[in-house]
Parts: sequence; structure tokens; C-alpha cells
Amino acid sequence: MIGENNIDCNNANCKMLEYETVIGLEVHIELATNTKIFCGCSTTFGEEENVNICPVCTGMPGSVPVLNKKVVEYAIAVGLALHGNITPITRFDRKNYFYPDNPQGYQISQLYFPIVTGGFLTIQGEDGNKNIRIHELHMEEDAGKLIHDEKEKFSYIDFNRSGVPLIEIVTEPDMRSAGEVMEFLETLKSRIQYLGVSDCKLQEGSMRVDVNLSVRKKGDTKLGTRTEMKNLNSFRGIQRAIADETKRQIALLESGKVVERETRRWDDTKGTSYSMRSKEDAMDYRYFPEPDLPPVIISNDWIEKIKKKEPEFREEKIIRYQSQYGISEYDSRLLTETKEMAACFEETIVHFNQPKEVANWLMVETLSLLKEKGLDSTKLLFSPKQLASLLTMIYNKVINRTVAKEVFEAIFGTDLCPVEYVAAHNLSMIQDEERIIQIVEQVIGENEQSVQDYIAGKKRAMGFLVGQVMKATKGKADPQKVNELVQVCLERFIKSEV
Ligand code: ADP
Ligand code: ZN
Ligand code: MG
Repeated sequence: MIGENNIDCNNANCKMLEYETVIGLEVHIELATNTKIFCGCSTTFGEEENVNICPVCTGMPGSVPVLNKKVVEYAIAVGLALHGNITPITRFDRKNYFYPDNPQGYQISQLYFPIVTGGFLTIQGEDGNKNIRIHELHMEEDAGKLIHDEKEKFSYIDFNRSGVPLIEIVTEPDMRSAGEVMEFLETLKSRIQYLGVSDCKLQEGSMRVDVNLSVRKKGDTKLGTRTEMKNLNSFRGIQRAIADETKRQIALLESGKVVERETRRWDDTKGTSYSMRSKEDAMDYRYFPEPDLPPVIISNDWIEKIKKKEPEFREEKIIRYQSQYGISEYDSRLLTETKEMAACFEETIVHFNQPKEVANWLMVETLSLLKEKGLDSTKLLFSPKQLASLLTMIYNKVINRTVAKEVFEAIFGTDLCPVEYVAAHNLSMIQDEERIIQIVEQVIGENEQSVQDYIAGKKRAMGFLVGQVMKATKGKADPQKVNELVQVCLERFIKSEV
């Protein structure tokens, strides 16, 4: 008899069902301000090394930081989007440590009075909506970048990134699976992109995620010992790291060992992690209030002003698109994936009030053209006005869809007017029945075999003739008319033959 007791449960995979994974995240996000947090240097990414630097962001003695107001505004905006409490008097602290990418010998960060405390983010959990609580959000400065070249006996340093503003969001340990972590990160990323405060690109490092993970037997109320995983730079890497670390911890516990409280580094190529430092060598940062910066007083008026500018977020749009435009949930999700796409959709409707037509064109023709060009849907290189006038021409039967696609490709990335383009290239649909009949008769004359096939009852032969007529008009004839007229002409031809 095969029963549960007969299954060999001596492997970690099987034991996994008895455990629960507990995850809390620390997410660093680079803010898209024009200048750095404490100086006027540019934050542009990808420039030549050490061009965007000054005495402040290279930690020269005697230089004094001056806070960028925009950083505070962006941090407040994110805090409000996470339903957090804004600290009325917030302050910076010095986190002291030595590392070559940190020439001051300390990082200006926040420990005692972070700008945001509490809050939550609602995600679609495995069974319905779930709130992931936020512990805090604080502001800090980024460090420089070390460049190690294996062939050289020394390393290079690039200070362009030094002093770029960061916010760090710390969650409570409320996630229970890689799926929930993905949902959390996608939702967070979407909110932040809609706010316009960061592009949140894991690959480029404008979003960095540290995963704190522990396991415990299902039903246990006490949390297990956690590890912290660093160096995760793709969503897929995060998922794999969570699976790998969960397995490793369960295997340790199952063999009677304990999980060490340590920081681990994920190696995406090897698909495994290794220990970077244990709790024993945990650093003492000797935090103290930053003496060079005064506390920041945040008035209710200021908070209100920022709150007023809050955009409609993706989740709200998804609900509204369904009720207001009758668009399916799936399509609404697709249309709101980036704020650029959602904005294009909404603005096009203003000029051409056929939401479903607009939605279809964006989801089908636009996404496939973007894919062909290797672009994502933040790069809609046409204006809503251009799209609206193109769709209006289809609607009014000035052009058919095939020609419209051609026009769309031609105007993409230009400011050409579709109407003018169609006129200039003589692309309007041929509506003139006399002319279409002429062409149909010519095609019938040239394709005797197909006509005979049609007479013999092979109705597919008609499709071929329609195709030939469309070809002869370079795709410009009204396909519906061509269909009708081919039928009429065939019948007429058959009668005359009899
Ligand atoms: P520390 O003060 O050592 O940095 P925190 O309490 O600030 O630790 O927690 C850091 C992160 O670790 C948070 O995201 C938190 O949710 C998460 N965390 C804390 N304890 C656990 C645990 N037992 N299992 C998983 N994650 C945890
Ligand atoms: Zn600078
Ligand atoms: Mg911490």
C-alpha cells in the first residue's frame, strides 16, 4: 500500500514543507535628483570617471555639506506613498567606518530620527491582499565605486557616485515566500517610478536589495536566526538566492546544527552564496549626530504640498480602467506597467475617444514594435496626438490596418504628422468602386485557374483572388469592399460564361 508513511522524507526538499520562510528586506534606492545630496555635483550615470566630483563628495578636510532640499521632498513623497509617518524634526547621523570608496571615513546617514517610520505596502499575496509593514525609511549618501583590474596590483576609484542620494527602506519580517518578495518589489518599484523619484533599475544599481531570511517550523511563533544576503542584482537572482538560502538553513537545522547570524554574498554565476562576515566581527559604527548639518524641520504645510502632487498609482488605475473604460483586468495591468504607457493611453483617449481601440494598438502594435527595436515601454517615441490621428484615420477608413502599421513604423521616433505622411506617400485607401472593379476584373482575367477552382466549389480560391487585388493596390484598397466586389464580379463572370 502506498501511503504518506512510505514516502522517503530524508531529504531537505521534502522537509521544506514543514518549514516556513520568513523574509525582511532592506532596499536602497538611488534618487533621480539632478545634483548630489550634499553638494552641487551632477548625478548623471555612466559618465567618464571622476568628472562629477568636488571637495565635498571626495571628503576633503574642511569641506561642509549642504543638504539638497529635493532629496527630502522625494523621501517624504515615498514615505507618504508607503502610508508612513513623517518625522517632524529629522536629523542626520555619522556612521563611522573606513573603506577606500569612502574617503571621509564616515557615511552621512540616519539612525536615531529617520525621516519616515512605520507604514505599509499592500501586495497581492498568495491568498488575497496582504500588508507588508515598513519599519522605516531613511536618507543617506552613496559611496564611490572601486574598480578592480586583475592584471594590476592596485585598484582604481571613481567618485562620481560618491554623494548620490539614497533612501533605504527597511521592512518588517512580513514576507513568507519568494513570490511575496517579488510582489513587494514590483509594487514598490511601480510606486516609486510613478512618483518619478527613481528608475529603480537593479542591473544599474539604482535599486539594491538585501534579503534577510530565516526559517522556522510551521506553527512556531518565535523567529529563527536570520542571515543577510547581499549582492543581488536581478529579480531572478533574488528568487534563486531565496530558494538556495531556505534550503541551506533547513538542511543545517535538520542535521542538528544552527544557523549562524551572518552576512552572505550571493554568487549568481555559481548559484550559491558564501559567508562574508559573521555577527562576531560586526562593526561598531560609533554613530553620532552629524555636527555639520542642522536638523531638518518638516512642516505639515510642506507635507500637504507634497501629498497634493501624488499621482494616481498603478493599482488605482487598474481598477479605474476596468470600470471607466470596460477594459479587462489583464489589459489594464499591461497598460499601466509603466507610467509612460498609462499616460500615453490616457492622453490618446483625449484626442480619440475609443479606449478599446487605443488599448489594442498600444498592447499589440506598439509593444511588438518596441520589442523589435529593443526598447521598453518607457520609450514611447511618438506623441499621443500622433497616435490619435493615426487611429482616427483607421476609424474613418482613410487607411486600413496594414497601411497604418507601416505609417506607425515610419513616424515612430519622429515628429511627422501621420495625416501628412499618408498624403505625401499617397497611402489613402482606395474607396472608388469603379477603380476597384477594374482591378478585380483584371485579376479575374489573369487567374483563370482560380476562377475554375471557385466554380468547382473551392471557396478558398476567392481568398486568393482577394489577396491578388490587395497586392495590386499595394494594400491600399478597402479590404471589405474588395471582398464584396470580388464576389460580385465572380458571380457576374460565371453568368456570362454560361
Ligand atoms: P539590525 O538592527 O541588525 O539591522 P533589524 O531589526 O534592523 O536588524 O532588521 C534588519 C532586517 O532584517 C529587517 O528587514 C527585518 O525585517 C529583518 N529581520 C529581522 N529579524 C528577522 C528574522 N528573524 N528573519 C527574517 N528577517 C528578519
Ligand atoms: Zn561634489
Ligand atoms: Mg539594519
